Amino acid sequence: MKKTFALGVDMGATTIKAGAVTPEGKILEQVSVETLANKGPATVLKQIGEAVRQLLARRKPVDCFGIGIGSPGVVTVHDGAVHNPPNFSNWNDVQVAKAIRKVIPLPVFIENDANCAAIAEAKYGSGVDHKDFLFVIWGTGVGGGIILDRKIYRGPYGGAGEVGHVSIDYNGRRCNCGSLGCIEAYIGQRYLSQRTKEILESSPPDRPRSKIKELVGGNLDKIEPSVISLAAEQGDEEAIGILEEAGELLGCALASVLNTVDLRVVVIGGGVSAAPQFVFDKIESSTRERVLTPHRAGIRILRAKLGNPAGIIGAASLVL
Ligand SMILES: [Zn+2]
Repeated sequence: MKKTFALGVDMGATTIKAGAVTPEGKILEQVSVETLANKGPATVLKQIGEAVRQLLARRKPVDCFGIGIGSPGVVTVHDGAVHNPPNFSNWNDVQVAKAIRKVIPLPVFIENDANCAAIAEAKYGSGVDHKDFLFVIWGTGVGGGIILDRKIYRGPYGGAGEVGHVSIDYNGRRCNCGSLGCIEAYIGQRYLSQRTKEILESSPPDRPRSKIKELVGGNLDKIEPSVISLAAEQGDEEAIGILEEAGELLGCALASVLNTVDLRVVVIGGGVSAAPQFVFDKIESSTRERVLTPHRAGIRILRAKLGNPAGIIGAASLVL
């Protein structure tokens, strides 16, 4: 009997999303539930089990290839364990794959969530024409995954692709990881909003009224990257400046990675990647200026194609 779908689970700290996905990467149906991340691992595992059961109840389990799970934190693929995912309470080392297999008799595989999104782009998205590329997820933080010869490169310790912690200033801003000058500390969602607020607060009062200020009704605590993008599209000079600066800085970090790993193509996804095209152009020119000469002509910075569903599709593709 030919199997027709796999289940992909995107285990986020705020939402658990699960979907039935075809081998062509199409989501047939999906469910989502608010993650009870503060209730501890047993509760979260139960939630994953319930989401999976819900999807299986509407189809024939015998048609299912298996279950793929994308999780934040360090994932050791060989034993299916998730280690200290950020924003999950009382969670050190949990054997997630084993726990799910115990209650649902199907093959279960697990992978880091940024790696899942990278795999999805490689198989179904902007990476299909490139067998080697760096995937960057630009949202609350900055993460990534490395695709070599169409396969994910995890590294000997499972931690490869952490682009967000490339330092662009040895004496720079303090990052959540404890280090200084990490690119995430300059272009992560929260820092980008904070930086915009600082710039607006220090701009001279005789400047023309800021589109950003208008869009948030004067409440600078409401600034988020989508607002900055919108203002930039409407020609707001400060918004354009802030996003160009973010692009320049990201290019600086990317050049270091591309020089080290010998890659030339970067696919950028995540919430902030909805930014206008000029930001991508800036990232590309900034990267090109900084890589070694033989790489220059081949540098390509591409926007991810799959958007939010990349998490579910990538997780499902672990078993497809
Ligand atoms: Zn860091």
